[in-house]
Amino acid sequence: MTHPELPADPSILLDQPPLAPEELTELEGLVRATIGTGNDVIILQAEAILALEAVARAVAAPGTVALNLVSGPYGGVFGGWMTQSGARVTDLVVPFDEVLSVDAVSAAIDELAPAIVAVVHAEAATGGTNPVAEILALARAAGALTIVDAVASVGAEPVAVDDWGVDIAVIGAQKSLAGTAGVSAVSVSERAWAVIDANPTAPQGSSLSLLDWRDGWLRTDRSAIPGMPSWLESRALGAALRRVLGEGIGGVSTRHRRAARAVIAAAGVLGLQPWQGTAAGRAPVVTTLRLPEPAQPSLRDGALGGIISPGNGALFGKLLRVNHTGRAANLDPVLDAVRRLASALGQDSSAAEAAARDAWNDRDA
Ligand SMILES: *Cc1c(COP(=O)(O)O)cnc(C)c1O
Repeated sequence: MTHPELPADPSILLDQPPLAPEELTELEGLVRATIGTGNDVIILQAEAILALEAVARAVAAPGTVALNLVSGPYGGVFGGWMTQSGARVTDLVVPFDEVLSVDAVSAAIDELAPAIVAVVHAEAATGGTNPVAEILALARAAGALTIVDAVASVGAEPVAVDDWGVDIAVIGAQKSLAGTAGVSAVSVSERAWAVIDANPTAPQGSSLSLLDWRDGWLRTDRSAIPGMPSWLESRALGAALRRVLGEGIGGVSTRHRRAARAVIAAAGVLGLQPWQGTAAGRAPVVTTLRLPEPAQPSLRDGALGGIISPGNGALFGKLLRVNHTGRAANLDPVLDAVRRLASALGQDSSAAEAAARDAWNDRDA
């Protein structure tokens, strides 16, 4: 069966030459431009969750004191890997309808004096975005190595690796960059390499090894790419990054912000509350809406189609996700979502659609 949204002839995907070394080098440059860094960039031949595990295992030496900031499911998973690698990890956890407070992070840094501070920028699952610039400034001032999961935020809001002093940033392409899921990227500062070199348990000779990529590719004459990189996914990453950079990160971020604003405005008309309490904590990548209690049966499982999906895991039955992400960060998909919500609530959609249009067009907001 061919997916209805695909061209009739998917053989366009076949018969491409393998990835050339020059193409991989160019990809690294596109990633650098996208996240604002002059650091080394490694393109990993796997989805971003593997890149995050590779990072956790690279930096977490036995006994290392790490502060892991958790405002959603991905933060929790990252701390688990650092613990498995022997680090002494303290999770600072906030309820998933909140984001991190700078004061709480500051107190935790003062108390623990961590060697590592890890934070997720935006969590697509909760629709929350953390005040990372402030948090990273505190972590840097305390001398900690800084790690940011920017998989969900990149493209939807600015990610400024060098300006923020991020030692390691991880991105994927399939969220706001509107690319595919099969390759991901990690930026690594010189400070981070020193920490990884000093970790006797940092993976080597492993698919999870950042060191293998540094020593087998970055620091070579780059005449041969190690292993067999996925040429389809790698080229798709390049196409996604070129498209985003062509529109401009600012333009893409603005589309996401306008879409989020439109959904919140329409939801208000329909009597639905945002899941994230504070406006500053709402991520432009995905807007989450609190399900009423009890929720109408038609809303409860969240299977409303279009760009709406139910909460993941423990968030199922608590929230709905409006995934105005990537190409869907546009008025038409948002209006379609508003009509689906209104229909599930048994309401006429016209006032909510009008509110969405107004909010989308309100360039001053
Ligand atoms: C989606 C996501 C990931 C995982 O990315 P995959 O490409 O699905 O592996 C990691 N972190 C955050 C914050 C995400 O939103």
